[in-house]
Amino acid sequence: MHILRHYFISLLLLSILPIEARASSATVLYDERFLLHDAGAGHPEKPDRLGYIVQHLRQHKTLSAHLRWPSFSAATRENLRAVHQDTYLDLLDAEQQQLTTTRPYLTLSTGDTVISKKSIEVAKLASGAAMAGIDAVMQHNTKSAFALARPPGHHATADRGMGFCIYNHVAVAARYAQKKYGVQRVLIMDIDVHHGNGTQDIFDQDDSVFYFSAHQHPLYPGSGRPAEKGHGKGAGYTMNVDVPFGSDEAIILKALASQLEPAMQRFRPELILVSAGLDAHQNDLLGGLRYTDAGYASIAQQVVKLANLYAQGRTVWVLEGGYVPENNSNAVEAILEVLIGQ
Ligand SMILES: [Zn+2]
Repeated sequence: MHILRHYFISLLLLSILPIEARASSATVLYDERFLLHDAGAGHPEKPDRLGYIVQHLRQHKTLSAHLRWPSFSAATRENLRAVHQDTYLDLLDAEQQQLTTTRPYLTLSTGDTVISKKSIEVAKLASGAAMAGIDAVMQHNTKSAFALARPPGHHATADRGMGFCIYNHVAVAARYAQKKYGVQRVLIMDIDVHHGNGTQDIFDQDDSVFYFSAHQHPLYPGSGRPAEKGHGKGAGYTMNVDVPFGSDEAIILKALASQLEPAMQRFRPELILVSAGLDAHQNDLLGGLRYTDAGYASIAQQVVKLANLYAQGRTVWVLEGGYVPENNSNAVEAILEVLIGQ
């Protein structure tokens, strides 16, 4: 009887505690094969930028006790077709076939993305990681999931790989969530130092996916002006914020509170995906911003706040850029500590 009473009291407590206080673990989607994508010696998108994060997490005793690492499979052609055109998927296969022992690398004809023998296979697995993140949060295994995957994805459009990206993982994950779980409204928040032109383009005319990006301007790829707000049915469902060279996290934090939050009162996302590029970190090789680890924690708190308001706390983070391994691991640690409610 006493045991039962304790049980019901615990249930009652759980139901009145805020979600943050209840969350105690996060799902990490990682596979050793992510290290096999090789863009060539000296390329900034190197395996170590991901390997270092994972090594750091595994050695971090307090954090790793709160992480689960389920296995997952690669995205199928059908999953990818929800975002990418058949002609582009065929082009990737054809260009991969041009690789030989004497020509082990080539740059995709669509843009500045180097591929080698394993790249296409690894990129499919990276999309699969983002989809597995959706499964984790929609099946209530954890509130949050982080796909630690490469190559990145947010520059890839429906028919064009570019900017080190082959498939747009966050877009594939958004479509997967809509199709498999019937999620109506998805917010994608892009915190990479670069504008996610691919993601914006894919959802340009879509009112079921809201795309927010705060990125350094001017910088590659040049798109993402504040005046770009979507077209047709998607008009008003894209929000871009310019961040000038040398800025810290103050501008993105202000934009999240003063621009994105009011927009979300209307949109009410049921799920939040984060294009978690870490190249806005101070001293990044490609970016010129100065976000701190504490800044990444503050950004994560804002994401969690929105998720708790509208999305039952559900957030799926997908690694994009970030070119200094140690910065990446520090930023991921700062984010995960917020996600597991420490
Ligand atoms: Zn980037």
